[in-house]
Amino acid sequence: MQHEIPRATSSVQLGPADIQPLVDDAVVFANQHGLVVALKDPRFVNPDYAVIHAPLSLTPVPYPRARFELAQQVMPLFNTLVDAVAADESYLEATLRPAAAQDAFTGRLLGCLLATRPERQALRGSGREVVLGVHRSDYMLDAPSGKFLQVELNTIASSFGCLSALMTRLHGYMASGRISGLDASRLPPNPTLEHIPDAIAAAATASGHVAAGGVVVMVVQPGERNAYDQQWIQLQLWERHRLRTLRLTLADIAAGGRLDAASGTLTLPGGQPAAVFYFRAGYTPADYPSEAEWAARELIERSNAAKCPTVAYQLAGTKKVQQDLATPGVLERFLPPATAAADAALLREFFAGLWSLDPRDLAADAGGAAAAVRDAIARPEAYVLKPQREGGGNNLYGEELRAALQQGGEELSAYILMQRILPPVNRSVLVRNGQWQEAETLSELGIYGTFVRHNNAVVVNQQSGHLVRTKTASSNEGGVAAGFAVLDSPYLVE
Ligand code: ADP
Ligand code: MG
Repeated sequence: MQHEIPRATSSVQLGPADIQPLVDDAVVFANQHGLVVALKDPRFVNPDYAVIHAPLSLTPVPYPRARFELAQQVMPLFNTLVDAVAADESYLEATLRPAAAQDAFTGRLLGCLLATRPERQALRGSGREVVLGVHRSDYMLDAPSGKFLQVELNTIASSFGCLSALMTRLHGYMASGRISGLDASRLPPNPTLEHIPDAIAAAATASGHVAAGGVVVMVVQPGERNAYDQQWIQLQLWERHRLRTLRLTLADIAAGGRLDAASGTLTLPGGQPAAVFYFRAGYTPADYPSEAEWAARELIERSNAAKCPTVAYQLAGTKKVQQDLATPGVLERFLPPATAAADAALLREFFAGLWSLDPRDLAADAGGAAAAVRDAIARPEAYVLKPQREGGGNNLYGEELRAALQQGGEELSAYILMQRILPPVNRSVLVRNGQWQEAETLSELGIYGTFVRHNNAVVVNQQSGHLVRTKTASSNEGGVAAGFAVLDSPYLVE
């Protein structure tokens, strides 16, 4: 059965003759305000020095104001939920063990959690535990229900925060007399450029290393194309907090990092103590090409620096945990008893249908899993099959999804089955590499949340801005860095 596709909408109508001059304005604004990505042009001695405007949408995406504000309002609750789930290691272990048995990467992360328990407990006991969350909860507006349904909650390497704030400024510029009919007051404030560096700085301060010359380490992938989004955080850390950032790969840390076993202080290759490890790598198996990278991850986890994320936070952000939390009765366990019922009801406003594919759950028909599998085999277009992976391009759809479910078996323990969210179709002008194209599109909203806890004291817990990514309606996946999508912003309508 084909789903009915709602009529294409857009925040404003543009005639073909209007578009090119507006694209010229937008690209110049982007270049002049640092809304850029590395061009990787091999003609340059250092290809990273050549930049080009980030892929962008000329006009913002209409979203219902009330639902958008509800997604902002729920973000601190998602932050505390991640923190509570991460603190319950027996829950993480029990929930992830079947997936870990099938998926070596999940198994490795779980192994790292268990191996570092003594140091982590000692750190907590000494009153020096600092956790830092820079989360992004991703949603699509589900046209049939009118709700924002959560695609996933990212606890590691949530990217594009800074470029997204610049995208909001770009649409504000386009709305200030350039595109008639576009109302700048309908673009919600987007404080990522302040909130993300401020949370990192708060964690650095709480770590106690700043006075002794401690630095922030951005853990990066070699050859990152989105380095300018990351550089914005570094620049802001310097300008707002006079904090220095070192960009190091896991291999650099393995080679030159030294952990003082007595104090837990990790000294970096340049001799500075590490105050914060902020990961923009480490979320995919490709980031661990050898044992050295795993050794670095463990070294960081044993250290007394603040980590964004800890291994426990990373595991709390897995798709398996997302699915398990949607099982009736599980959520309440992680919420303060006094407000558990109301909090759970609010969180559940954002949950799509999620089912375990663990053969034991299927046999028991836990949460209706067996019926969902039968339905997915009959109507694969209404579902998404997801492995324990981050970074885009890993999900299965359509015939591939059907074939995997028909085959069955233990391997499916490492996958979850999810209801396919059906967002409304918009018309957008997509600008990539200086060229524009008008297309029917789908958008995904991300809400950032920042959280800092120093032992039992929550120092920061807030909604910290947003990201909209827009892709052509015909593509399944939506990564900007992967080349599928462009940056966009929300336009709130009643
Ligand atoms: P990743 O960790 O790889 O980013 P996601 O869960 O975000 O994994 O899935 C990648 C992309 O696939 C999303 O950005 C979205 O475009 C699409 N997608 C994922 N889940 C759904 C869903 N339930 N319904 C519709 N599209 C989805
Ligand atoms: Mg995603």
